[in-house]
Formats: sequence, C-alpha cells, structure tokens
Amino acid sequence: MSNLKDQNCPLCEQKATFNFGNFALDKYFNCPTCTQYIISTMAEEKLKSLSSSVRENLSKMAKNSPELHALLIRLKGTEIESIYITRLEANHQ
Ligand SMILES: [Zn+2]
Repeated sequence: MSNLKDQNCPLCEQKATFNFGNFALDKYFNCPTCTQYIISTMAEEKLKSLSSSVRENLSKMAKNSPELHALLIRLKGTEIESIYITRLEANHQ
C-alpha cells in the first residue's frame, strides 16, 4: 500500500515524501537528508513554534538512526519526545 504525498520535510525543509500511518496521526517521512523517520501530526505542529535548532537537532538524530531503527518524534504532554524504534515496531504502529 503506497500512497506517497509530497511535503517539505518539517525538520530540514527539503522536498520530501510521506505516507500516513496509524489512522493519519503519524506521518512516515522519507527525506533525502534526514532519511526515514516518523512524526506525529501534533509534534509536527508543535515544531513550527520551536527554534530552528530543535529541528536541526532532530534532523541529525533522524539521519544518525541506528541500523534497522527509525526516529519517532511525538508529543509527550506538551513537550517534543524523540525516541528510536525498530523498523518492525514502526510497521506495527
Ligand atoms: Zn529532512
């Protein structure tokens, strides 16, 4: 099931693509710079209000994901939380 949409990466602002997952609450991004990562739509909204250094840091974290892992960016309360999850977990989200 592939339904790629175009959107500039919310971390580095380059042209990227994403798929919706988890009932459209999460976006599975594929970015030429940040590689693959997952961001919740609420976290994406929150990031817009934060300084660019936060986004740059998340971009680096996504790019440096351990093998077979992807960065998951979501909201915990009102704060951004970023954790590495395995690709297997990502597929079952
Ligand atoms: Zn990016």
